[in-house]
Amino acid sequence: MRHVPLFVSLLAFLAACGDDSGPDQAAAMEAPAAGPNVPWPPYVILGRRADPEDITWTLDPKGSAVTPERFEEAVRTALASWQQTGCVRFRQVEDAQEADVVFSWHGENHRECAFLSWDGGVAHSAARGDRAFVHFRTNVDWDGAPPDGCSLDVAALHEIGHVLGLGHSPRRDALMYGGYDRSHDRLQEPDLQALHTLYGGGGDGPNDLHVVTFDTEGRPTAASAPLRGVAPSFVQVATAETDSQPGAEVLLWRRDRHIGPLFGFRFLPGLQVEKSIGPVPGITRPDRATLLGHDHNARPWMVHVNNASRWVAVGFDEKGLPTDRFAGSRLELDHGLVDQDGDGLIDSPGPHRTVLPDGREVWARADVDGDGKADVLAASAAPDPQDPRDFQWLFTRGHPEPSIGGAIFRACAVAVADLDGDGRIEGVATGWDGK
Ligand SMILES: [Zn+2]
Ligand SMILES: [Zn+2]
Repeated sequence: MRHVPLFVSLLAFLAACGDDSGPDQAAAMEAPAAGPNVPWPPYVILGRRADPEDITWTLDPKGSAVTPERFEEAVRTALASWQQTGCVRFRQVEDAQEADVVFSWHGENHRECAFLSWDGGVAHSAARGDRAFVHFRTNVDWDGAPPDGCSLDVAALHEIGHVLGLGHSPRRDALMYGGYDRSHDRLQEPDLQALHTLYGGGGDGPNDLHVVTFDTEGRPTAASAPLRGVAPSFVQVATAETDSQPGAEVLLWRRDRHIGPLFGFRFLPGLQVEKSIGPVPGITRPDRATLLGHDHNARPWMVHVNNASRWVAVGFDEKGLPTDRFAGSRLELDHGLVDQDGDGLIDSPGPHRTVLPDGREVWARADVDGDGKADVLAASAAPDPQDPRDFQWLFTRGHPEPSIGGAIFRACAVAVADLDGDGRIEGVATGWDGK
């Protein structure tokens, strides 16, 4: 089996652990269980274990604040909860050198983890390569009565989520919500969605984002596990080559003018999810529309346009995070994001898709059949940008213009790019019926 690093870095782990207190969460504390006011995205993915079917673990009871039997029972129970999903399997080993995960105990301060903060003050975990550890804090009243007592079962359950590559969810109901919370004693929907996105499984839901390849007729086929639950109708889906790594990223943000982050995904060769991007907080706001466009050098820019058509464009650094402000005064991006006279206003009519003679709109241009010429992804017009519609690739096949129609498929939104850097074009689709 191919070997891939579990976490890109400990820094990424820390960043994801520390960013769960943005304005979204504060505003959404009283939010209902579904709808646009629920914190989005539902989960964060830090990395992928290379061998989820055989994760070895062991206990180091040195300094344990509970009996060795109680320690083992808590860890076993927590591992069993994750294993019951059918996505991962654990195997106990005696030798710590053979263990992928070591559960052990530590006092409040230890140099090994000086850079980590305790998860709610009671436990933490991190990984180096495929080796992970979970530290429980010795000076905690484990299994005592609340409010002072903490549940070892709850702490173990949450930390194993990190070991499996899950970061902190912005959803307050999630087991992987940041910190220790005694009521978080089982896996919830966002936790399962994250697990299924990483390792497959789970049933299809209306908010799934499907990762597809196209055959020579332009027919989509599922390429890997869908990205579960990340693309409700208020989310814009786009692809862009934002970082210095081969392969494009999937970028997602709210299009309903709510405060929200930039979120997305990176992919491994073979189109498995490597990790999620962000969430980078504060990207979308009620007073502006957020769009993605490319300049003449195919460089992507996020453009924010306020109600008076005034624009700000932001580029991406080598890690793919939004950083550089667009320096020039004149803007000329695709989709009609143009300010030709440099007066700071997007020229009318603003963003649009090219319309073909038959009335269909161009959603993408890319060489899908591999003949070296760009084909066109056309779709019927619909009242809302993300209503269901018929998509069809138009191929060149030796003609000067893309005109040979491929298979028709139905979806709400489709974005295409080479996601895994293999030189072929893949796509992501919302509302795809799998046909
Ligand atoms: Zn530690
Ligand atoms: Zn945590």
